[in-house]
Amino acid sequence: MTDERIEIIRELIRDVPDFPKPGILFKDITPLLADSTGFRLCIGLLEERLDDPDIDFVVGIESRGFIFGAALAARIGAGFVPARKPGKLPATTERIEYELEYGTDAVEMHRDALPEGARVVVVDDLIATGGTAQATGALIRKLGAEVSAFAFVVGLNELGGAQKLGTTRHFSLLEY
Ligand code: AMP
Repeated sequence: MTDERIEIIRELIRDVPDFPKPGILFKDITPLLADSTGFRLCIGLLEERLDDPDIDFVVGIESRGFIFGAALAARIGAGFVPARKPGKLPATTERIEYELEYGTDAVEMHRDALPEGARVVVVDDLIATGGTAQATGALIRKLGAEVSAFAFVVGLNELGGAQKLGTTRHFSLLEY
């Protein structure tokens, strides 16, 4: 049975061909954010799918993961912690580097961002190759916290990103 709420969200995500470079079909979530009903539905669905009353922190991945992650954190009564691109966080950081198609990228968090053993859900707008989410999970574990789940609004399944997340729970509201 199709969930009508999922279809509402699907219609609010715009496909933009060839952005940011030729051959990429960019999933633009800005119409979803601008729609008061759709955005609220989306955060409610993330909470419902997560279905975990014991989450201490939501870690949002820069930058669109901040939007969904912060809203989810406020809704479920968890703290919000940003995972950022290199050089953005002011205090002492830890970093994990990961491979891109060409070259490497990295994700950073404050070293004292999460207490030992904290239960964390990682949130981003979209999972493609899974490299960013995998690196963020590794960084959270390096800080001594536990990744309970990964939650995404969109999953691009063809790219097999979920496989990089191993046995850790993960879900996407919309699959393509
Ligand atoms: P990846 O590490 O390959 O899973 O890439 C995930 C990150 O890149 C997420 O933060 C997404 O916001 C962004 N991203 C990758 N591909 C797309 C796409 N087709 N449309 C929108 N965002 C994308």
